[in-house]
Amino acid sequence: MKIVMLGAPGVGKGTQAKRISEKFGIPHISTGDIFRANIKENTELGKKAKTYIDQGLLVPDELTLELVMDRFMQDDAENGYILDGFPRTIPQAEALDEALRNTEDDLDFAVNIVLPDEEIISRMAGRRVCITCGGTYNVDFRPTKKEGVCDACGGEVILREDDKPETVKKRLDVYREQTQPLIQFYEKAGILHNIDGLIGMEKVTEKIAGILGGE
Ligand code: AMP
Repeated sequence: MKIVMLGAPGVGKGTQAKRISEKFGIPHISTGDIFRANIKENTELGKKAKTYIDQGLLVPDELTLELVMDRFMQDDAENGYILDGFPRTIPQAEALDEALRNTEDDLDFAVNIVLPDEEIISRMAGRRVCITCGGTYNVDFRPTKKEGVCDACGGEVILREDDKPETVKKRLDVYREQTQPLIQFYEKAGILHNIDGLIGMEKVTEKIAGILGGE
């Protein structure tokens, strides 16, 4: 089963992708997480990506594709995956289609979580992430037990540089311009499913599982 998660930054794609990955036993592939891991390890890719990410811009397609195409080749991706944050542009979606065509395979579902901008901005202001394990929290509705400390691994929990309000606005503009056209792209392909993100995290997971045929 091959799934693409769509939606603006901050709609909860990452949280849902993690849950679905566990429920269905398929790997969660997040380009954002891969970039952040590279930044932490100060790799060449990380250094290049950081200059774009910190400004709320997309990392250029060429660099992103190099990274993702490698990931698909790994053994755990053999029976499918859930993509979170990729594709983010039409050329990336076309490159993915092309790669799948070569393996005579297809994407099965594109799940689009929809939220109003005001809700996105307020959720992102409250979002916190563990710099060690990548665990996500929210000061308003999913706080850590101890402030600033990850419940899962004890790592430091911070506000991501690109979740700061001035960068969030830029990311939403970039989303509208470069990523939103993917909704139509996957609608045309006949695999698009829209979900209202306002119904709450648990219900969104249930809806997605229902669409994928889990219950
Ligand atoms: P995310 O964690 O998915 O919100 O990604 C964080 C940042 O990483 C984004 O704002 C982009 O700068 C960069 N990024 C992640 N995935 C991609 C992608 N598929 N194409 C280009 N840039 C990306």
